[in-house]
Amino acid sequence: MPQLNLILLGPPGAGKGTQAERLVDDFDLPYYATGDILRAAVKEESELGRKANEYMDRGDLVPDEVIIEVVVDRIDQTEAEDGFLLDGFPRNVEQAEALDGELKRLGRELTAALLIEAADDEVIRRLSGRRVCVKNSHLYHVDFDPPKREGVCDQDGSKLIQRDDDHPDTVKHRLEVYREQTSPLADLYDARGMLRRFDGARPTTEVHDHIRATLAVLRRESEL
Ligand code: ADP
Ligand code: ADP
Repeated sequence: MPQLNLILLGPPGAGKGTQAERLVDDFDLPYYATGDILRAAVKEESELGRKANEYMDRGDLVPDEVIIEVVVDRIDQTEAEDGFLLDGFPRNVEQAEALDGELKRLGRELTAALLIEAADDEVIRRLSGRRVCVKNSHLYHVDFDPPKREGVCDQDGSKLIQRDDDHPDTVKHRLEVYREQTSPLADLYDARGMLRRFDGARPTTEVHDHIRATLAVLRRESEL
């Protein structure tokens, strides 16, 4: 069985989580979204949550050693043997190197980096209307993808909330952090022939069709 070891890249609001919800169903992959993992830890008031909280509130990256341990732990599990979809990691060059090192240790390598691109004004519109369900982090948008009943998740009936860091000032800062620390990763993976670009400004179903088709080809290629 060929592996699909995948990462999702792109600015906050590009649609990574939205696409991931669909791709994990298509390809039956375990999905690790570092933002979701950290938010759950903050809610539980675990040690991880205490370490991450202040950075997340500001829209800064949490320290590398904190998040690297979380990810290494996940991809080492049996459920991730045939592949995984990472969302929100790596976020800088150090994290990318840590991921390479861990995969090497496991005798594996990354299959592709999926970059979902979208302009600043579009992601600002998206983040200001984003709503997330408290139970399973299902995603909605008040205008672009509203739930059937206002404030209630279609899939599990839980409450929809706005993330604290989706307020305009924090969003601007998160975009700066993305530009400075995360966007250089696109060149890094491109140089290795692993980057696949997708136009995140297209409607959700179109972006999904493109990514799914690309992954189907990658899986077939790795079977040869
Ligand atoms: P990310 O995980 O990259 O931060 P999300 O998947 O959470 O982005 O999407 C951000 C917001 O934009 C959500 O409210 C989502 O419903 C909406 N959204 C996602 N993809 C699209 C799209 N292609 N067109 C319009 N809105 C979208
Ligand atoms: P978005 O979906 O909008 O791209 P995330 O949910 O991925 O945002 O991340 C939310 C916050 O969690 C980030 O602003 C950061 O504080 C923290 N975070 C998530 N992943 C990482 C990471 N790999 N390294 C450092 N901080 C992270």
